[in-house]
Amino acid sequence: YGSTGTPTTDALCDVVKMLESADSVVLAPTGRGAVAVAILSVVRPGDRLVIVDNVYEPTRRFAGVFLSRMNVETVYVDPLDHDAVRQAVSGAAALFLEAPGSQTFEVPDIPALAALAREAGAVSIMDNTWATPVFFRPLERGVDISVQSATKYYGGHADLVMGTVAANGRNGKMVEETWRELGMHVAPDDVFLALRGLRTLDVRLERHQRNARRVAEWLSAHSKVDRVLYPALPDAPGHALWKRDFEGATGLFSFVLKGYEMDAVQSVVDNLELFGIGYSWGGFESLVTVARMPRIRTATPWPEDEHVVRLHIGLEDPQDLIEDLERALARLP
Ligand SMILES: *Cc1c(COP(=O)(O)O)cnc(C)c1O
Repeated sequence: YGSTGTPTTDALCDVVKMLESADSVVLAPTGRGAVAVAILSVVRPGDRLVIVDNVYEPTRRFAGVFLSRMNVETVYVDPLDHDAVRQAVSGAAALFLEAPGSQTFEVPDIPALAALAREAGAVSIMDNTWATPVFFRPLERGVDISVQSATKYYGGHADLVMGTVAANGRNGKMVEETWRELGMHVAPDDVFLALRGLRTLDVRLERHQRNARRVAEWLSAHSKVDRVLYPALPDAPGHALWKRDFEGATGLFSFVLKGYEMDAVQSVVDNLELFGIGYSWGGFESLVTVARMPRIRTATPWPEDEHVVRLHIGLEDPQDLIEDLERALARLP
């Protein structure tokens, strides 16, 4: 009876334990499910949860739709403002982190924020989907619970949906208990795809990184681009902390077009030929979306006239991707 695991799921959990430096790993049917398991493991009715303002939007929605119903109060903070975090986390049950910031890619000081949570007696959770444990291992940096959407780079071929939650000691026990009582199950064929994807994770990430860097550098020199939000670039927000804490950068980043109406920005997306329009990412192919920034920030409002275009740079020849971007940007006035 495989409802709580099989030799196949054990094999994947064992690999992820090694990657995450964790003694406990559970698999969820989606990354969002993994976020939910992690949060539900540590909050009770009447608790306060602190979430960084640049969190993945569906995590914000889970708090607004679901946790509010459980009488869990959510407070959003600017992760770069340590005084605000210290204040918010005092008396809170948990601090939910994500780095770099979703859509905007600023890099907070994760070890310092995890220490603030610990001092306040709050459990820290980090969504580490962007870096994967190949480039950043949250549990080695003082974070209590590490969440990953395996849908992205673990799968790597855009044909898998899954999430993982990793922790140690007592936190791991709480996660396992919550996961078991929620009846989470992942199908063996999906687990097989994740296991197979992990065998090439390291080499794929190296290529995503090299390609993304080339495209990001090209974009940052383009006259219609205000700035590129990719922490691997020396003048990007968060570069110093990225360099200190991360062992690499993956294929997802954004750039800002300033002085254009949303319609014009969307026309760039429509005029791209090699980039598909896609919200998920982490596969072999390049993708583009336009972020709706004003809707997804509350503690750190984003300027209305700064439109954020998010790219996922795949494994194609980066010169082809640059030429595609060049053609689409040339059609802007
Ligand atoms: C995609 C994503 C998730 C959710 O993953 P799904 O498997 O699509 O549910 C969570 N966090 C981040 C940062 C993501 O990019």
